[in-house]
Amino acid sequence: MSTLTDTLTRYYGYTTFRPGQEMIIQAIIDGRDALGIMPTGGGKSLCYQIPALEMKGVTLVISPLISLMKDQVDGLLSMGVKAGFLTSQLSLDEQNQTIRQAIAGDLNLLYVSPERLMNEYFLSRLKRMNVNLIAVDEAHCISQWGHDFRPSYQAIPEVRNHCSTYPPFAAFTATATQKVQEDIINKLQLEKPYHYTASFDRPNLTFSIVHPKKKNTKLTELLKDKESSIIYCNTRRNVERVHTHLNKKGFNAAYYHAGLTAEERNQNQEDFLYDKSPIIVATNAFGMGIDKSNVRRVIHYNMPLDMESYYQEAGRAGRDGAPSEAILFYSSQDIITNNLLIEQGNHPHAKDNLNTIISYCKTGRCLRKTILEYFDEYPSYQSCDNCSNCNGEAELVDVTESCQKILSCIYRMNQQYGMGLVADVLRGKETTRIKSLSFDELSTHGLMKNVSETEIKDIIALMVSEQFLQVGGDQYPILTFTEKSVELLHAKHKLYMIKQQKETVKAKQTFSEEYDEKLFEELRTLRKEIAAEIGKPPFVVFTDKALMSMASQMPRSPEEFLAVHGVGEAKLEKYGDAFIDLISSYAK
Ligand code: ADP
Ligand code: MG
Ligand code: ZN
Repeated sequence: MSTLTDTLTRYYGYTTFRPGQEMIIQAIIDGRDALGIMPTGGGKSLCYQIPALEMKGVTLVISPLISLMKDQVDGLLSMGVKAGFLTSQLSLDEQNQTIRQAIAGDLNLLYVSPERLMNEYFLSRLKRMNVNLIAVDEAHCISQWGHDFRPSYQAIPEVRNHCSTYPPFAAFTATATQKVQEDIINKLQLEKPYHYTASFDRPNLTFSIVHPKKKNTKLTELLKDKESSIIYCNTRRNVERVHTHLNKKGFNAAYYHAGLTAEERNQNQEDFLYDKSPIIVATNAFGMGIDKSNVRRVIHYNMPLDMESYYQEAGRAGRDGAPSEAILFYSSQDIITNNLLIEQGNHPHAKDNLNTIISYCKTGRCLRKTILEYFDEYPSYQSCDNCSNCNGEAELVDVTESCQKILSCIYRMNQQYGMGLVADVLRGKETTRIKSLSFDELSTHGLMKNVSETEIKDIIALMVSEQFLQVGGDQYPILTFTEKSVELLHAKHKLYMIKQQKETVKAKQTFSEEYDEKLFEELRTLRKEIAAEIGKPPFVVFTDKALMSMASQMPRSPEEFLAVHGVGEAKLEKYGDAFIDLISSYAK
């Protein structure tokens, strides 16, 4: 066993490194700058934490969010690693004490926010610390091309000059675009960095596209009360509606959006972290800095605007490696809404980005392969067996003829109306509005009498996403022709749509061992009690995956307990007795 693997096992209780981790760690220990690109949940933290344990002195970790620092430090302390953080929320005394510890060499890791690097006093103290590494987490925040630019990150490059040791930089991000990567290298002035891009595949995630008749009903079917889930909605209003719905149905859910006060946000986020409310409904304002490892599913209630943010958000499920789900709900309404949003904005690539995610929703191919190809990875398999297209039965239907009917109806309505009215006319409705506009006299009135409204809207949305129609208008989304419309009208083009046979897809059990679910429940309860006692989130005590391993292996001695995935020496000492007792009495 190499010494690095030794350290991994002793502190973390893991037996093997993930691809790339060991090489990044070795490069850093050899004194090189490094850039690590790994998906969310891929295991970036370990790449700078292990060097921090292996080297003399202190590793400075720059991290954008206070909540994130606190959780990471909690996690490290529970594993027996000496770690601390500095934030403006601490008293001056507390801050000074942490700084003294770092100078005295009593800390392996010191987490700081980027703002701290502009503080003269801190910079003057930095000279007296033996800084062995500067780790920049969420390094894309330094790039204006990234989706999360933070001005305070501009202060990072200088900090190396304030250290008497001129330590290496190690930068980490889950953003894969070339531009952002180049920007990180340039802005941080990385010198011939060791550059590793990990596979973006997350094998323990089951990807599903669901096209529900009623989103709320589907949602309640998919959720399980005690299992942690994140539900992303596109607006604050939807967040509140879905939250109300879930509470009415008896789910214990919190919610989060930028319209809440800082206090409310903190409280709700904490309820979620501590599993007091295992479910949270949120806008995309929620998530960065949430390293909760036991999130079992991420559901997108509305279609996101691009693949990068989708994958980042979905990737918050299953960080602990246990089987988890990434489910995307879509409806034709989302497609129209997003198109309109983009028309009104002026982001140059927004349209392409949106079309990528629409194709993702519509494709009949393997979803995992589709995602990976977006990130320039080309797996050799055709089918991953772990996404709704590989598990379910997707069928392609030719909808060209319906498209022609729709186009000719829009044409006869003078291209001045939205999807709702077009669908009503085609279905032959005789509302006052339709009569007053004399649309009941059109030859296309009632032409699609036997087709459901949802289906007509879906076909329209498909035509919009394939640019056979466009959405415009200042207030209401109005459908008009594009240059390509005529091609479809004359059937020079054919259009196909995906039909899902089954609405639900069950997650494949990818946890390799069978485990006793009743014991798992009891272990979960014990974990929650211990967490409450020490005032930390439950996943800091043990991950879900560690509990599953316990429920499978049923360790009854300290040696057996230490062999469980995710049990290191510190945790054996702290929690070993309680868990071994429970397992022993359960076994009887
Ligand atoms: P991210 O890349 O998103 O920052 P984290 O560093 O938070 O990911 O790691 C995600 C999870 O994976 C954590 O629970 C971590 O303990 C776990 N992990 C990291 N490396 C390994 C490994 N080699 N073996 C098992 N689990 C690991
Ligand atoms: Mg991270
Ligand atoms: Zn697949």
